[in-house]
Amino acid sequence: MSRLAARMARAKPSAIMLMAERAKALKSAGRDIVSFSIGVPNFLPDVHVYAAARKALDHDSGQYGSNRGAPELLDAYLQHLGEMGVHGYQRADLAAGVGAKHLLFQLLYAVLNEGDEILIPTPYWTSYIDIAEILNARIKLVECGPADDYKLTPARLEAAIGPATRMVLFCNPSNPAGVIYTRDEIAALAAVFVRYPALVVSDDLYSRMIFDGVGFHHLVNAEPALRDRVILVDSVSKSFGMPGWRVGLMAGPRDIADAVVTLNSNSITNLPEVAVAAATAALAGSKAKTEQMCALFAQRRDRVVAALAAIPGVHCPYPRGAFYALPDISALYGRRHGDQLITDDLAFCNALLERAGVACVPGSAFGEPRAMRISYALPDAQLDDGLARLQRFASELT
Ligand code: PLP
Repeated sequence: MSRLAARMARAKPSAIMLMAERAKALKSAGRDIVSFSIGVPNFLPDVHVYAAARKALDHDSGQYGSNRGAPELLDAYLQHLGEMGVHGYQRADLAAGVGAKHLLFQLLYAVLNEGDEILIPTPYWTSYIDIAEILNARIKLVECGPADDYKLTPARLEAAIGPATRMVLFCNPSNPAGVIYTRDEIAALAAVFVRYPALVVSDDLYSRMIFDGVGFHHLVNAEPALRDRVILVDSVSKSFGMPGWRVGLMAGPRDIADAVVTLNSNSITNLPEVAVAAATAALAGSKAKTEQMCALFAQRRDRVVAALAAIPGVHCPYPRGAFYALPDISALYGRRHGDQLITDDLAFCNALLERAGVACVPGSAFGEPRAMRISYALPDAQLDDGLARLQRFASELT
C-alpha cells in the first residue's frame, strides 16, 4: 500500500519539464541539441532590478513579512496593472505568491471542492490540468483548435459553461499558442461570462509581451460586473526575465484574495525580501528592457512563422505574443522518417529530437495532439540552426 495520500496518485511531473530534461540529458551526453522546449525568456532583468536586490541584501531586516505581500510590492503591482489599463484595485484585493504557478495552485485549492467543474480551454498550459487533477476537480475541456486560431470562441464557451461551472481558466496571450484576443473577442467572451456564476481565472502572465501593436484587453474592462468574478494572475517570470525569483501576484474579489492570504499564512508565510525588492523594482521601474526584448521576440516570431510556412502541410495560427508558436503538424502524421513511422505528435517530437537534435514539446502535453510547441526565446543563431534542422527533418519525411 502506498504511504502517500490518495491525491498523489493523480499528481504527475510537468510534461514540459520531462522534454526539457531529455534534451538536457542528450546535451550532456555530448549531442548537439537545439532546445525549443522550455518557456524561459532568454534575457536578464534590467540593472535597476539587481541594484534593488543588492540594496535589500544590505538592508534586509531578515524578519517575517506580510502574508499578503509587502505593501511596496502590492503597490508596484497596482502600478503595473494601471499601465496595462486595469484600474480600480486596492491592496486588500491583492495577494502575492511564489510565482504564478503557486498562486494558481492556491486559487484552485481555495475555491474548488472535489468534483467541482472547471472549464479548461485547449490548448492549455499544462499545470492547469495537473493542479486540477491533484485537487480532484471535474475537468471539462473546451476544444479550441487551429481552425479557431486556438482561441476560445463565445459559441464554444456558451456550449460548455453552465450554472454548475465553478471556474474557468483563461490565458491571454496564450501559452502554448502565443495568440492574443482582440478587444472585440474579449468583449464577446465577457458577455457570456457575465451570465454565469463561474469564477474566471485570467492568466495575464504574458500581458506585456504583445507584438504588432495589437494591445492588451482585459475581461474586467469589457464588463465591469465581472470584477466580482475574475481573478487576475501575473508574475515577473516572463515579462521581466525573472523566472527563478519566484514572485507572483493576483488581484480579485476580496474573499478570494483573503483566502489565498490565509493559505499563505499556513504555508509560505511570506516571500523572501530580496526577491520582493527585485520584483518591486521590476514592476515599478523602467520597462525599457522588456520592450527591447519584445521587439526581438517579434523578429524571432517572424523567422519561426516563415520557416514553418515553408514546410508543406504545416499550418501555424499567427502568434502575436509571448514567445511560442504552436504549428499544426498533423498533416505529417502517417509519413516516415527512414524506418520510423511518424504516427502522432509524440512520435514526431521524439524522432525530431533523436534524429535532428531539436527539442519541441508534443502538443498533447497541452491537450492539442495535432500540434507541437516551439518556444523561440533563443539567440538568433541557435534559432536559425534549429529551424533549418526542423525544415530538413520535415523534407526527409516520405
Ligand atoms: N501561467 C502560464 C501561462 C505560464 O506559461 C507559466 C510558466 O510557464 C506560469 C503561469 C507560471 O509562471 P511562474 O510560476 O514562473 O510565475
